[in-house]
Amino acid sequence: MMTVSKEIIGDVTLITQGDTHFGADFVVHSQQDILALPKKIRDPFMLAFSAIESVCDPEIPVLTIMDLGVFRSLSIDDKNGLIVTITPTYSGCPAMSMIAFDVEVALGKAGFKQVTVHLSLKPAWTTDWMTKQGKKKLVDYGIAAPIGKSSALKTDRAALFGITEVCCPRCKSNNTEKLAEFGSTACKAQYRCKSCLEPFDYFKCI
Ligand SMILES: [Zn+2]
Repeated sequence: MMTVSKEIIGDVTLITQGDTHFGADFVVHSQQDILALPKKIRDPFMLAFSAIESVCDPEIPVLTIMDLGVFRSLSIDDKNGLIVTITPTYSGCPAMSMIAFDVEVALGKAGFKQVTVHLSLKPAWTTDWMTKQGKKKLVDYGIAAPIGKSSALKTDRAALFGITEVCCPRCKSNNTEKLAEFGSTACKAQYRCKSCLEPFDYFKCI
């Protein structure tokens, strides 16, 4: 018979069963959150976090779901199962069910058998959640990164139509023109660089 103990740390409850620890109240959003956790439960969270970090976006494989800000949170439920919450970049994006599946597979490989992936639709995903590193990877991949803050655009509708300067991801020229509102996918617009004459996608700010 395994011993079960319960410990209150601050305002969270830490439950220890045998050598497994789980705290139903721990929800982490980032690596920093994990470092702030009580030492003895850091390891499983860290292991799960790096497994999730390995999951890439099916459409832009150089971006992880952390880079995109699609990953929202990780917690452990009272049955010691993992709960991962993700927010689709676009509702109805077919890539999302693939991402949920990939998260389960990655965690399964890391040894986590009970995994629940929740889709959180509110608040809606915004390009503001994309990390700096993610935007850089996007440009290196040949796609112009979203310009400005979506939250700022909402408060200033004029700015929404005022974006003209999209920098060419190849030669960094600002001398570019929009060819079409929609590129290879709905979230991208098609542009062409007038300096190097190369067409490229611009990941729209939403
Ligand atoms: Zn160019």
